[in-house]
Parts: sequence; structure tokens; C-alpha cells
Amino acid sequence: MAVDFKVIIVGCGMMGAAAARHLSGMIDGVCVIGSSEPVERKTHHGVFASHYDEARITRTFDDNIVWGTFAARSLDRYAEIEAKSGISFYTEAGCLFAGPTAVPGQGYLGRALELSTRMSLDVETLDASALRDRFPQFSLNPQFSGYYEKRRAGHVNPRALVRAQTKLAVSGGVTLVDATVTSVRDEGTHVAVTAAGQTYTAEKVLVAAGGFSNFNGLLPAPVDIRVAARTVAFFELGEREMALFGDMPSTIIFGDRDEDHVYILPPVRYPDGKTYLKLGGDLEARSFATLEDAGQWFRSDGDLAERDQLAAVALQAMPGLSGCPVTSAPCVATFTATSYPYAGFTDSPRIAVLTGGNFVAAKSSDELGRLGAVLMTQGWLGEEDFGRELTPVFL
Ligand SMILES: Cc1cc2nc3c(=O)[nH]c(=O)nc-3n(C[C@H](O)[C@H](O)[C@H](O)COP(=O)(O)OP(=O)(O)OC[C@H]3O[C@@H](n4cnc5c(N)ncnc54)[C@H](O)[C@@H]3O)c2cc1C
Repeated sequence: MAVDFKVIIVGCGMMGAAAARHLSGMIDGVCVIGSSEPVERKTHHGVFASHYDEARITRTFDDNIVWGTFAARSLDRYAEIEAKSGISFYTEAGCLFAGPTAVPGQGYLGRALELSTRMSLDVETLDASALRDRFPQFSLNPQFSGYYEKRRAGHVNPRALVRAQTKLAVSGGVTLVDATVTSVRDEGTHVAVTAAGQTYTAEKVLVAAGGFSNFNGLLPAPVDIRVAARTVAFFELGEREMALFGDMPSTIIFGDRDEDHVYILPPVRYPDGKTYLKLGGDLEARSFATLEDAGQWFRSDGDLAERDQLAAVALQAMPGLSGCPVTSAPCVATFTATSYPYAGFTDSPRIAVLTGGNFVAAKSSDELGRLGAVLMTQGWLGEEDFGRELTPVFL
């Protein structure tokens, strides 16, 4: 049977848009069907995404070679994507980790330090007094050391990155359909994808629907992910705070335990014209198993108790924020059973999945998209592409 497309990608988010761009350079006959960002989040009843924001930390300092490699390969291509699309999304503000002095090989920071040598990363170690001198805007535990990646680190604007990827995909011949997919069916010889009452056919489908991959009948069997609630707190900055925090790097502060950490984005201008410093953590334990529950979360302002807790941590680490209005927003992080993203086929040889950002995939989304494209063209991922690590787990 003649099909409409060789490949349909479901979801035009961070990974799906990147996959579409990469595929556009490999084959023709590609279509991406994705829901665009709702204009009114609080009244929207449908799917949402984890990239509706203006800043995500980017860095290569990581305790895991797979994640570090994905980030490095993506960073290598940021400049090219910006130049070709004419859309700027990367700010090289640097990235600082601060925490208890690392013991090589032990804990997150110790493992990351070891790996940074293996990967020849340019990471400066700052002892407690150097950390205080270099970053006087922070008031941290006086015992803490710093691990500072000045270059090839900072933040990306996830909305702008998706726009850039989509623009390049479309100019490379990809058909873009702005719609929500409500079913994906393997018909034996091809796949049928239904969106907004219309059915599209393809030889293969790549489902890249983020935290919404298990909803709307996109996969033959659910993929093993935990869609976890995340709350972010925003401090609205005035001129006084801008003078204090304007040149800070993206920052991740560890507590005494690896899991007690907060991440802080430097001041960024938002679409409402205001400048915010954003802060988040991973205190929230709630997760969502239905579209209705996830939707209800996205229509809220996040967890207000967590917002207050984040604000308290921020004021302790950055007393100069005192007096700034604080607001909050919801998001979801999609955790996999393997702690790696999933990129692989389902039981159907025609339907594959690409999801599982594990809270850290914005910076690496271009490489993850490339892997999705390789999967669609080659049918599998080799060792150099971490095919084994990325094998999806289904329920
Ligand atoms: C609060 C927060 C902070 C984060 N901070 C960082 C950070 O600092 N650094 C970092 O690297 N990462 C960070 N992340 C993680 C990063 O944002 C995600 O890993 C990334 O967005 C995942 O990309 P994705 O393409 O899998 O999902 P998404 O970006 O969510 O894209 C999925 C797309 O699929 C679409 N979709 C879903 N269902 C359907 C359907 N049925 N039909 C059509 N389209 C559909 C959605 O509309 C969406 O556009 C953060 C995440 C959160 C929540």
C-alpha cells in the first residue's frame, strides 16, 4: 500500500523537533505531528510539554559518561543550529556546581570530577575561599567547594531551541502538522496515525511525546516511565537584584546528601517583559498515571508548599533576593526505569519510542533527536550511540 510518509514523528518537543531536523537531512517523506503550546495554560484540556520555559541549564560536567557524551555532542552543534536557523537559544553563562568537597570517584561530584578528566573537560575546582571570592553573590555553607565550567556551559532557551529545530526541519522538507495525535496503530504493512479527525499513514512512527507518551494510545504497550511533578519558583528581579545576580552562572547547589540539591538559572527575560531568576529542586514525590491528572497539574501553579521551601533555600543561598516577588509554575519530569532515555522499537517493528528526559535532557535533546533519526533509518543503535543503554522498558 502507498503510504503518506516514510516516517511520522509524534510530538514536536525537544526530542521530536530535533529528530525531525536530523531526519530531514537523511531521507525525504518525513512528517512531524505535534501539539503546539497552549495559549492559555490554565484552561487547556489536552497535552502539555516539559519545555514551556525560557531557560534550561546546559553543561557537560556530569557523573555519567552516557549523559555527558549526549550533552557534549549536542553542544558541539548549538552554534550551527543557531547560525542556520537564525534563532539564538544558547547563552554561555557557565555552570557552577557547589557542594561538599568532592572525593574523586565518590558521590555525584566525585564521579563527575573523575569523568571530567576522562572527557578532558575544562572544569575549574574552587576551594571554599576561592568559591566565596569568585561568586560573592552567594552565601553558601563555608565548607563548600565549587566546580566551575566556564565555557561550553550555561543555559539554553528550550522554546527557542524547539523553534529553531522545527524551522530547519520544515525548510529541509519535513511536513509539520499542528495537532494532537489520538491513536497510533500498526496495520500490519504500515502504521496509521490519527490526529484531529484525520488519518495519516507511514512506514514507521517515532513516538516522542515526552511525559505524555503513555496517553492517547500512542504506543502498543505503555513504556515504563514515571511522570513526576516538578515545581519551579520564580523571583522577579528589579535593577538592584540585576546588579547583584546579572552575571551569575547557571548554578547547582548540593546539600549534604546527593539528592538534596537545587538548581538556579541566572536572570532571564520572559515573554511578559519581566526578568526572573528561576530555581527548582526535586522535592516533589507525586507522579501522574493519567492524562487528566497530568493536565490538572499543568493547569495549577505547582505545589505552593514546595514553592515556599524553594524560596527559603534561595534566600539562604542568595540573601540579595530578599523582597523580590515570588511566583511558581508546574512542569513534569519523565523518569525511566534505566535512568537513561529510551530510544528503541516497541513490539511492533514499525513503531519506536524516544522519550525519558530524566529531568536533564533539554541540553542533550539535539543528540537524542539524532539518535531517534538514526533509529528510524538504520533500525537500531550501535555501541557508539549507546544502543544497549537506551533500550526501552515496557510494562
Ligand atoms: C522544571 C524542569 C526543569 C528542567 N530543567 C532542565 C535543565 O535545567 N536542563 C536540562 O537539560 N533539562 C531540564 N529539564 C528536562 C527537559 O526539559 C526535558 O528532558 C525535555 O523537555 C524532554 O524533551 P521531550 O521531547 O522528551 O519532551 P517535551 O519537550 O515535553 O516534548 C514532547 C512534545 O510532545 C507533544 N505531545 C505529547 N503528546 C502528544 C500527542 N498525543 N500528540 C501530539 N503531540 C504530543 C507535546 O506537546 C510536546 O511538544 C527540566 C524539566 C523540567 C520539568
